[in-house]
Amino acid sequence: MDEDRRGPYCKDRPQAAERLTAIIEGLMALVGKRLPDDVRARLEELRSREDSPLGREVYAAMFTNLDMAEALDRPCCQDTGIIQFFVRAGTAFPLLGELEDCLKEALIRATRSVPLRPNVVEFFDEKNTGNNTGTRIPWVDWELIPGLDSIQLFAYMAGGGCSLPGFARVLTPLEGYEGVYRALFDQIIAYGVNACPPLLVGLGLGNSADTAARLSKKALLRFIGVRNPHPRAAEMEERLEGALNKVGIGPGGLLGNHSVMAVHIEQAGRHTATFAMGLSTGCWAHRRGLVEIQKDLSCRVLSHGGAVL
Ligand code: SF4
Repeated sequence: MDEDRRGPYCKDRPQAAERLTAIIEGLMALVGKRLPDDVRARLEELRSREDSPLGREVYAAMFTNLDMAEALDRPCCQDTGIIQFFVRAGTAFPLLGELEDCLKEALIRATRSVPLRPNVVEFFDEKNTGNNTGTRIPWVDWELIPGLDSIQLFAYMAGGGCSLPGFARVLTPLEGYEGVYRALFDQIIAYGVNACPPLLVGLGLGNSADTAARLSKKALLRFIGVRNPHPRAAEMEERLEGALNKVGIGPGGLLGNHSVMAVHIEQAGRHTATFAMGLSTGCWAHRRGLVEIQKDLSCRVLSHGGAVL
């Protein structure tokens, strides 16, 4: 690769890797302490439309919590979750080979500097690693974009009470959309109250348990207010939102007008014999951040207005 394509930083790879690590560490601090703009805006909107006195109290407590987290420079929830990174990586980004090491190192540093509660317990050793990393953690989901020399990086704190306990099921085509609705409502009604509502519901539709589950998590990355580009999927999102809100779980599970912030659907083609669904839920403290990093390591935070890394 010639030097012009690598950009000035990448003439010194250790220095460049250090800068990339610092950007990611900064992103982790931002995500842990401040909700993304779309989530905060939707919570404000739901708060203004809530008429249950208890529900209004819950929203008031949420916003006090968020304001204090910023003022005191602390995480807005004690649960770090498990850190999942979703990378849309241009294949010409000069530090592609270093990125996975940088993600891990940034997480170790952020665990100390933010600080973040260490959550990762190794299977079979049954021991907390103490730094939020572990076998295959941080979990990294890669999407490669040929020729592009920048990356878009989502950092997501997948909470133990909301996002991690999702489920996937492979239905038959005969069960179809009706089967999906039934399973989705059963799960949200049985479980949603424990997941710190109002929820962002991610529904993945695909051909197998693994594709549907992965898509349900990707659905949680889309900014609230952006619909699925397929008109029927967009209509299904709206109808499911309306129906789930009628369940009345409300903020904090204490009853109210809105149980969900939004429903997002992502789909993949299915096999003629399968109709797979995956479900992931984000809680009211839906902590995800998106940064775009150019080949010269200049960067722009797309999820949190005014933030600089
Ligand atoms: S569900 Fe969300 S708000 Fe509730 S404890 Fe977990 S991360 Fe925190």
